[in-house]
Amino acid sequence: MTDLASNATADDAARAARRAALATLGEAELLAMANSAPVGLYTAVEGVGVILVNERMCEITGLTRGGVLGHGYLGVMHPEDRERILDYRSDARREHLAEITAEYRVVRPDGELRWVRARAVRVRTDPLATFVGSLVDVTEFKQVEAALRESEGRFRAIVEQGFDIVTVLDADLNVAYVSPSAQRLGGYEDAGIGRPATDFIHPDDLEGTLAYYRSILDGTPARAMHPVRIIAADEHVEALEIVARKLEDEGTGELVAVGRIVTDRVEAEVALRASEARLRDQASVLEMIATSNPREDTLAEICRMVEHQIPGARSTVLLVDEWGRTLHHGAAPSFPDSFARAIDGIPVAEGSTICGSAVIRAETVAVRDVVHEGLEPWLRVLAAEHGIHGAWSTPIRSSYDQRVLGTFATYLDSARLPTADEEATVESVLHLAAIAVERTQFEDQLAHQAHHDPLTRLPNRTLFGELLEHSLRRAQRSGSAVAVLFMDLDRFKVVNDSLGHDAGDELLQALAARLEGVLRPGDVVARFGGDEFTVLCEDLEPGVADRQAIGVAERIIDAARAPFRIGNEEQFVSASVGIAISMSGTDRPEALLRDADAAMYRAKERGKDRCEVFDEQMRERARERHETENALHRAVARGEFRVFYQPIISLADGTCVGVEALARWQHPERGLLSPIDFLGAAEETGLVVPIGAWVLEEACRRAVEWRAALGSEQHFRLSVNLSGRQLVHVELADLVAGVLARVGLRPDALCVEITETVLMEDIGAGVAAVKALKALGVRVSIDDFGTGYSALGYLRQFPVDDVKIDRTFVERLGTEPEDAAIVAAVVSLGHALGVTVTGEGVETEAQLAILRDLGVDAAQGYLFAPAQPPDDLTGRLLRPHRWIELP
Ligand code: C2E
Ligand code: CA
Ligand code: CA
Repeated sequence: MTDLASNATADDAARAARRAALATLGEAELLAMANSAPVGLYTAVEGVGVILVNERMCEITGLTRGGVLGHGYLGVMHPEDRERILDYRSDARREHLAEITAEYRVVRPDGELRWVRARAVRVRTDPLATFVGSLVDVTEFKQVEAALRESEGRFRAIVEQGFDIVTVLDADLNVAYVSPSAQRLGGYEDAGIGRPATDFIHPDDLEGTLAYYRSILDGTPARAMHPVRIIAADEHVEALEIVARKLEDEGTGELVAVGRIVTDRVEAEVALRASEARLRDQASVLEMIATSNPREDTLAEICRMVEHQIPGARSTVLLVDEWGRTLHHGAAPSFPDSFARAIDGIPVAEGSTICGSAVIRAETVAVRDVVHEGLEPWLRVLAAEHGIHGAWSTPIRSSYDQRVLGTFATYLDSARLPTADEEATVESVLHLAAIAVERTQFEDQLAHQAHHDPLTRLPNRTLFGELLEHSLRRAQRSGSAVAVLFMDLDRFKVVNDSLGHDAGDELLQALAARLEGVLRPGDVVARFGGDEFTVLCEDLEPGVADRQAIGVAERIIDAARAPFRIGNEEQFVSASVGIAISMSGTDRPEALLRDADAAMYRAKERGKDRCEVFDEQMRERARERHETENALHRAVARGEFRVFYQPIISLADGTCVGVEALARWQHPERGLLSPIDFLGAAEETGLVVPIGAWVLEEACRRAVEWRAALGSEQHFRLSVNLSGRQLVHVELADLVAGVLARVGLRPDALCVEITETVLMEDIGAGVAAVKALKALGVRVSIDDFGTGYSALGYLRQFPVDDVKIDRTFVERLGTEPEDAAIVAAVVSLGHALGVTVTGEGVETEAQLAILRDLGVDAAQGYLFAPAQPPDDLTGRLLRPHRWIELP
């Protein structure tokens, strides 16, 4: 105890000694001690201010001792921090806190900014509150901290933004760690920890990714991002780019893979590639269209475009027929023919089929499952058979008039409706389908136009030629005969001229319909041009082919003969038909047509309204005519024509009142040819115009000579024949006037003869020509009167001076009482109209006597004289006596 007591006493003594020593310390000593501290120190007394400050405090604040003493350093406190600190201080005071700490900025008088950590401790309260404070300069610390924060932020940014996922795999490539973001992405329970990484990798990427991981585990550093697709728990696919690194430090053989999601970019790339592919597909389809590929091929390609883009889809195109009643096969590349056949011809009708409904509604029609939903039973069976469930059909519309051309139908192998994307896929090809369809429709239309006559809608000459060619080839194989009928209307021109072209067109249309009605099935009738029609009869038996063809021709002739009702009137026409038959099919189409044409001419020559079969004789004549045509050209150039003259005798006194000029051809080999041998060819070639003009001038010259020799008191007139070709020649009157003036012949000394048929063929032109010639003072005679079936009444229309009764009537006078009656009628009407009547071809005294009895004014014929060269005639003409003595 003693010791204890003595110890305590010792301690108390030491304490007292220290206190005494301390009490001796003055301001200087305290300051020296404070100055040795590495922090700023001060002592402040409430109400008095700072009473003590060390050097370090001045260094930190940049203030002098004098500046700090009394005032403190609130003046250098950063203005943004000042309020906060003052609030804090007053709070502390109120709550009697013994200690406060704060961090704030100091702005030194030299402008430098320092961060400080301040601490103030209340050391006594009585009599005045006294504080001891310290100030530490934490500026550098703050800077380091900020840099740290910044780099941490940067790091976090890298993890959070650049890399979406972090996974750690163990050495066996099982998942060991998954970052929260990766966990969200995958959506797997327990983040898939412990399961093999292969469970999450898209099968297509499995091999490549495993190889990548292995190479990393083997120590190969990763050079580039590795693309991999992972499959999320909800089966959606995300595309990633990863970079993996072996975790060496840990020595566990683990592998960390960081990666970012590039799904959007990959999808964009896929979409881009798909749209590129679509554009390529479109371009190739357009090329197919442009190069006129078959329509089905083009449409099939369009179907395949859709099938590529919609997995499990098969498409078909059906096209609306001409009448809009049914749908027919366009393309169905992924279906067997049997399917295409089954749906070919389905009706355009509401409800029965989705395609039929789509056309009617002109909008897309979709069905979830065609096997079960409201379609015709046979279609449901068909759909089930072909594994079709979901289906939709979209109208294909015309690119220019919105008309529905057909439908584009797509069939799915599962029961569902199309997605908006799938419908859009189909939409995107519709215009291509429309172009493909319209292109062929347009081509078909062009082909039809090129091969058909727009008026009658019958095949035209071109198509007829092609059909004939095919038919001849078939006949060659089958050994059957082929007939070509060439039909020409006989009085069509009359109808056309008198009633107008519209009436003519109407008649042709009606005739075309009749012709189609009388033909055998398989026969073809074509409009060859104008009022010409041709008929092709196939499969005739060689032995009876001509009889069969004549049977067809007769039906045609009957059809033409029946009256046509045009406007309010009935019109009558007739047809002349020529027939050419190919027995073996070896003939050329154009030869057969030419022969049929020649036979038709023969039918016209033989009185029209009848048919003729082409025969060898005609062939020979046709050949000769062809030769004649060539020779005629030479003859015109060489001047091989002559004019013969036949006297015309007055039946009143037997004198010669004139001559008729008749052309002859002095052929170098064939001798003297009469007009019958060359006139047809001359008409056809148009050479009749120059030949006729030459005859006219030559004969007029001769007439002037004869008239001069005969003396002016003698009536002597020249008759010259004009052809139809000359008649329609506009300058005919000028030509005649010119000749008369040149040779000095009085107009009334010339009589032009125009045959009745020529006048009747073109009444308008005939009347005009007659009037123009009459105006010159030239006389006009109707030649071959009675052969043109014209009514006597026509005499009133033509202001003619003379009528020449055709030889055939004169021939029958005495045998056919009717002919005498006709001649009598002509004479009485003619005389009533001031027209003289001349009889032609008088060969017998009996004919002469009857003509005289009937009151005929003049006559020509072998009885008096044949046509002869002028020199043979001159002597007899000039002898002053009557040509004949009349009783
Ligand atoms: P047409 O004008 O009727 O001429 C009368 C034809 O009958 C002439 O034949 C003449 O020789 C012939 N003939 C005369 N008397 C008799 C007879 O008693 N009995 C018989 N059986 N025949 C007789 P041609 O000269 O051969 O002329 C034939 C036709 O050729 C003419 O018929 C005429 O239409 C035409 N023709 C003749 N010369 C010309 C001409 O220069 N220009 C034109 N455009 N046609 C002409
Ligand atoms: Ca004549
Ligand atoms: Ca005549």
